[in-house]
Amino acid sequence: MKVQILFDNEAAASQLSVGWGLSCLVDGRVLFDTGESDSFLFNNIDAMNVDVSKIKTVVISHDHWDHWGGLWGLLGKRKGMDVYGCPGFGDEFKDKVKRLRANLKELSILTKIDDNIFSSGEIPGEYGGRPMPEQALVLTSPKGLTIITGCAHPGIVKMVKEVKLSFPEKNIYAVLGGFHLMDKDRDHIAGVTKAFRDMKVKKAGPTHCSGKEAEAFFKDTYKEDFIAVKSGVTLEV
Ligand SMILES: [Zn+2]
Ligand SMILES: [Zn+2]
Repeated sequence: MKVQILFDNEAAASQLSVGWGLSCLVDGRVLFDTGESDSFLFNNIDAMNVDVSKIKTVVISHDHWDHWGGLWGLLGKRKGMDVYGCPGFGDEFKDKVKRLRANLKELSILTKIDDNIFSSGEIPGEYGGRPMPEQALVLTSPKGLTIITGCAHPGIVKMVKEVKLSFPEKNIYAVLGGFHLMDKDRDHIAGVTKAFRDMKVKKAGPTHCSGKEAEAFFKDTYKEDFIAVKSGVTLEV
């Protein structure tokens, strides 16, 4: 399966936009998050020769601006798309999706979205003292599970464990996305990398809110199995 990183805070080429948030596209048809703005998203979609008309579904990880910022422009261009959120997202988000005539689906539990593509369903999390539920995107390929997270506000280890419970017979090939470790100290980060090793996660790609220290730590630990996530990168999983 193919994962194209459409938006990140770093880029593989100078014509690609960078900024806060994350967006990636799976096999050209399922978009996971949209980054902070539609102008950045569309710039990178053009630069990467992505055919927007082939995107069938959008999955939004959680109700934060840096993950849905590019959604509104996309829904303006493409009427009647399926948008997957979670019941715990705010009314403002839900109302806006409906106003733009998209089909909002609110997922509580593990749900198949397309062939070999699942949402983890809503996992309870917290941000700034408030509830911030989140869903991960889960891909099943012959290599194993690939788990992609937006910010991992519920905790990256908790999210990976939760997904693994639904696929007990599968190995975890890759975990990538925002791990939200930028406010965590070295001991905490070391604990996360150890938990990844214990769960036999083969490849790791922390980016976005993972923080520079955690990225460096993972790079050290994972070496050739570290995934450098940047706008413009395409991964085979
Ligand atoms: Zn974020
Ligand atoms: Zn967030």
